[in-house]
Amino acid sequence: MGTTAVAKKKTTASKAKASIGKMVYFFGGGKAEGRESMKNLLGGKGANLAEMAGHPDLRLPVPPGFTITTDMCTYYWANKRSYPKTLAADVAKNLEKIEKIVGRNFGDANNPLLVSVRSGARKSMPGMMETILNVGLTEKTIPGMIAQTGNERFVYDAYRRLIMMYADVVMEKAAGIEPAEDMGIRKQLDRMMHDLKVKRGVKSDTEIGAEDLKNLCAEFKAKVKEVIGKDFPDDPMVQMWGSIGAVFASWMGKRAISYRRIEGIPEEWGTAVTVQTMVFGNMGTDSATGVAFTRNPGTGDSRFYGEYLINAQGEDVVAGIRTPGPINEASRTEQSKNETSLEKAMPVAYKELFAIQKRLEKHYKDMLDIEFTIEKDRLYILQCRVGKRNGVAAVQVALDMVKERLIDKATAVMRVTPAQLDELLHPIVDPKAEAVTKPVAKGLPAGPGGASGTIVFSAEAAVEAAREGKKVILVREETNPEDIEGMRAAQAILTARGGMTSHAALVARGWGKCCVVGCGDLHIDMATKTVKIGEVTLKEGDWLTLNGSKGAVYAGNLPMFDASQSNQALTDFLKICDTVRVLKIRTNADTPEDSQRARAFGAQGIGLFRIEHMFYGKGSDEPLFKLRKMIVSKTTEERKAALAELFPFMKASIKGALKAMEGYGVTIRLIDPPLHEFVPHNHEKLEALAKDLNISFAELEKRAEGLRESNPMMGHRGVRLGVTYPEITETQARAVFEAAAELLKEKVKVYPEIMIPVVAAESEIVDQAAIIARVYKEVLASTGMKSIPHLVGTMIEIPRAALTANKIAGVAQFFSFGTNDLTQMTFGFSRDDIGGFVPHYLTKGILPADPFQTLDQEAVGELIHIAVNRGRSVRKDLKIGICGEHGGDPASVEFCHKENFNYVSCSPFRVPIARLAAAQAAIRFPKTAKKGK
Ligand code: PEP
Ligand code: MG
Repeated sequence: MGTTAVAKKKTTASKAKASIGKMVYFFGGGKAEGRESMKNLLGGKGANLAEMAGHPDLRLPVPPGFTITTDMCTYYWANKRSYPKTLAADVAKNLEKIEKIVGRNFGDANNPLLVSVRSGARKSMPGMMETILNVGLTEKTIPGMIAQTGNERFVYDAYRRLIMMYADVVMEKAAGIEPAEDMGIRKQLDRMMHDLKVKRGVKSDTEIGAEDLKNLCAEFKAKVKEVIGKDFPDDPMVQMWGSIGAVFASWMGKRAISYRRIEGIPEEWGTAVTVQTMVFGNMGTDSATGVAFTRNPGTGDSRFYGEYLINAQGEDVVAGIRTPGPINEASRTEQSKNETSLEKAMPVAYKELFAIQKRLEKHYKDMLDIEFTIEKDRLYILQCRVGKRNGVAAVQVALDMVKERLIDKATAVMRVTPAQLDELLHPIVDPKAEAVTKPVAKGLPAGPGGASGTIVFSAEAAVEAAREGKKVILVREETNPEDIEGMRAAQAILTARGGMTSHAALVARGWGKCCVVGCGDLHIDMATKTVKIGEVTLKEGDWLTLNGSKGAVYAGNLPMFDASQSNQALTDFLKICDTVRVLKIRTNADTPEDSQRARAFGAQGIGLFRIEHMFYGKGSDEPLFKLRKMIVSKTTEERKAALAELFPFMKASIKGALKAMEGYGVTIRLIDPPLHEFVPHNHEKLEALAKDLNISFAELEKRAEGLRESNPMMGHRGVRLGVTYPEITETQARAVFEAAAELLKEKVKVYPEIMIPVVAAESEIVDQAAIIARVYKEVLASTGMKSIPHLVGTMIEIPRAALTANKIAGVAQFFSFGTNDLTQMTFGFSRDDIGGFVPHYLTKGILPADPFQTLDQEAVGELIHIAVNRGRSVRKDLKIGICGEHGGDPASVEFCHKENFNYVSCSPFRVPIARLAAAQAAIRFPKTAKKGK
């Protein structure tokens, strides 16, 4: 640990000591000390349990319990894993309260109370932390439990689960023991149980009899002693405190740390611990347990959705060990097609559950994820939280809830994250290719969209492959939370086991990652690194394609297709965003095709048309040749002649852009990059150029050499070209005005905006604006037009320009922040060379994010702030936008909104994200909003 880390811990420790308030919050018996708004202190689970148990509108059948606060987690870690002295007494008091309500006592031989000990952070971290069930079962309480339930088998099944969980979580993980691969205590106990099933010739755990289970428990305890070297504790209090400590310890477990890093959850938050009366879904065929969503989390369909297992404990559903049945017809999948629904199997409990979920959704006004247990036909609600959903569902649910008048438009806008929207813009498997390809297998559609990649069988291999830039699909028997890094790194995940609420499904859905689970036809052989899928055997490195929306698995690499433009829900949702946002959204587009795509996505003009892009890509050979002639010209005459040849190409290209954006402003930027970038390296091309210019090869080489610069990004580029060669600016201005005039005559409404790049001083623009004004007059005269509506403005890309914005705005009619260059110039980081060091800055935490991706609000932002204020101090209606890459980054868009920009401009695919980000910014910061133009 470095000194700063130590210092940080010390401050946290003293803070924790200074601020111990109430440590334990009770819920049950129609009352609760906590409520939903106390998530920071009680964790999501604790806060929602309190709400469900105690809120007058709800008072649901929640088994009573208490929550130890997240502050205790901070305290625990800051004080050598210990608790404040008074905590033990508080816990004892609350335990008594439970005992009073349920009429059973913890550790009592005749009438024992069993509890669960669960984790619960502020934000849900599915499966990343620990839970221990059946705490309180001991040699002494077992007979009492048997007498009470009349079910010996059930009690020993509960006991073997407790031993398995406790040994794994408390005695091994929390104790910091790191067993060899496959030799963890849980795995060893699992194998013992598996062997017993084989011996008895049974498939399911539920088929193991009472006597066998009893013996197995004894063998388990002996194994625990042998492997860990300690007895499995037979004191209920030791079990409970061991479990509480292990839950706090799991906050610092490897997988929790990984998950927090990926999700950006701060370490200081800590987890709460909830101790709650056990209810049992495994008491026989009149008992069940399940997970339900008030709406379908994969599609957004508004019908109640979920899965359940008869005679099982919650962990069986979440861990995906058995494949569950549907709670109703709307939840039926390919896999559960032959299972009886809960609605049919237990109609009374289902009806009650249905009514409760309706009340809950009305109360929370959001789609919820509910865990329930039915113990001997009696329904209990064990948990509820806002349900994780993918992008498709997020948009659909938000739209439906507005229609149902459950939420208003602003709430709907806030319900979809930019990342979720991004999912909708991602590819799906090309339907045409899919129609003619037979799937090799089918599983459950757990995560949206399509993906293809080569097969890997371990999380480590996925991480490694992703590092090498390879696209892989992680294929696993079942995923467990330890696979989290690999799941992240893979394009998609495919598992043999698990249901829609298994960890793999929950996590993938949260990330919007393509995922297929519960694919029963999948047989992995880790020894040979092969997988048999139906009839086909594939090996590591072979291609696989998944359709995560349908659950289909294809051998090979199927093409992908972009479905985003014909998605009605997306269109409707974005329309709602448009009613809220203040910022306009433009696009950076250089071709008519890009412009059209951006318009379809909702762009309101072009914020950056880079003239030089006509010299790249399709159809650029001829104009590029002419540009090169211009570049290597020696005299003004030569250059003017070359420019004259180039002119028709320029005009056509500009005309195309203006026409494609009819009705909207188009910012045309004068040629920017250093000219020598366009000098050919290829001998043949150089020769052709020499010939055309009628000069010798040696002379051409000399001229090309003369253009070379040591620091081209800060060299002869941008406005500096126009200053040294006014004829270049003149030609471009003429191309703009003539193109506009021709279109206006054709009744096409166009609004060109000429933008001068890389400006450092007002006088540079004065110089260039004079040329543009002269050409404007000439074009009016030559075309007979009275006027051509247009603006002349500049980019702010250099700190000096930002600082002298008051002078620059005297000449420039608009500013567009070129934050790519402004970031480069502010940091002194060459934007073309950051690959060598910025990744290290990020891993070491020296920079919080790549400043070329998300705007550095501290310094680059300060320059922008200064420029906006100084600029508008002399020109009130100064139009302000951004056209650097940050224009499509949600956090940067919010910044632009706060700074009262008129628009942001980004690449076509990011236009929908920017529309959402702008709407969310307007909701978060309504006061600073100014109506833009
Ligand atoms: C910028 O610098 O932010 C910008 C948009 O211009 P370019 O990326 O072309 O330098
Ligand atoms: Mg630039």
